[in-house]
Amino acid sequence: MEPDQVNPLSKKIRVAVLAATGSVGQRFVQLLDGHPWFEVAALTGSDRSIGRTYGEACHWVLPEPMPAWARQMVVEPTLAEAVTAKIAFSALPPDLAGELEPCFARAGVAVCSNASAFRREPDVPILLPEVNADHVRVVERQRRERGWPGCIVTNPNCTSTGLTVVLKALQNAFGLRRAIVVSMQALSGAGYPGVASLDILDNVIPIINGEESKVEWEPRKMLGEILAEEIQLADILISAHTNRVAVSDGHLVCVSVELATPAGIVEAARALSDYQAPQVSRQLPSAPQPVILLRDEPDRPQPRLDRQAGRGMTTVVGRLRVDPIFHLKFVVLSHNTIRGAAGGSIYNAELLVRMGLVKSTLFSQ
Ligand code: NAP
Repeated sequence: MEPDQVNPLSKKIRVAVLAATGSVGQRFVQLLDGHPWFEVAALTGSDRSIGRTYGEACHWVLPEPMPAWARQMVVEPTLAEAVTAKIAFSALPPDLAGELEPCFARAGVAVCSNASAFRREPDVPILLPEVNADHVRVVERQRRERGWPGCIVTNPNCTSTGLTVVLKALQNAFGLRRAIVVSMQALSGAGYPGVASLDILDNVIPIINGEESKVEWEPRKMLGEILAEEIQLADILISAHTNRVAVSDGHLVCVSVELATPAGIVEAARALSDYQAPQVSRQLPSAPQPVILLRDEPDRPQPRLDRQAGRGMTTVVGRLRVDPIFHLKFVVLSHNTIRGAAGGSIYNAELLVRMGLVKSTLFSQ
């Protein structure tokens, strides 16, 4: 890192973006531009990019312009000893995340990861601050047992994100038994350059490798109770079909649910609209406002029209109706690279800071 790239008098927390040039990495750079708590001190990439400026190395695909500060930064190798940051936002491919993220945690860095490598570890929380902020408690166990001064926390897979927010509101109000979910997932979820245009144009691809098992398992961990630093999987059965569609951003998921206590549309609508994040997560800079937006038009939500709700952090629900087999059915929309990836990781980092798991002088006089 070039020491003169950040203001030494700033109280902001120095952060690094690991794998900053890809689909999720670009979102991090865009969302961290002007962040009130965080200041980007390093951007990393593969051998293809190391030593080049970010402006040269990154094929920027977002509609928002690349921030000027990022354009001039030199892409660095992903080495814990070379990066002086308190938080590392990881958009590493899963195999590399498994190898490199622990090096950062061992060096005292809080890693907020998008990768799946550690999601199934019992001492690593999959966090959605508006759902399971209390799961942060397993970080103490992780630090104690692994001897890491830093830590790893993860986001869920991007399809599980909006789905779990909605399931949480229903679980709180009525209890949950089973769900069948069918996703229509955007192209940006496959990374850049992702799916070949000739494969996806005029087409739907009815498989996303490894995705269904994630959607069937990750919500159970996030909706589980935490008992003595142990996360108990929620007793819910989920069956998932996952599909890739020719949409740029925004995953749409059709859901049918069986509740523990049957509920009608009016009560369900109230449970969704009234759902609030745990107190500790409500005032964080990236908190979704509102958490859930319930639309009553018959043809909403739609990815192109609704994915930016709440700056891309709100989960949008529509077409709430009675399910003739289970109890309720509805459609969920969540922005996959914002709420489902970079925005979600930033929200997780804000929670770690607020809960004192990342030391800072932000709140001192
Ligand atoms: P992507 O667009 O394919 O980008 C891959 C990134 O990895 C690039 O920045 C690339 O850098 C970097 N990289 C590759 N080899 C590297 C190395 N040896 N050292 C350092 N960096 C290296 O992928 P993505 O969609 O951003 O996904 C990133 C991660 O987030 C994955 O684990 C994915 O499963 C997860 N995720 C993605 C989404 C989504 O909506 N896209 C949602 C949730 C989670 P160069 O450009 O320099 O080669």
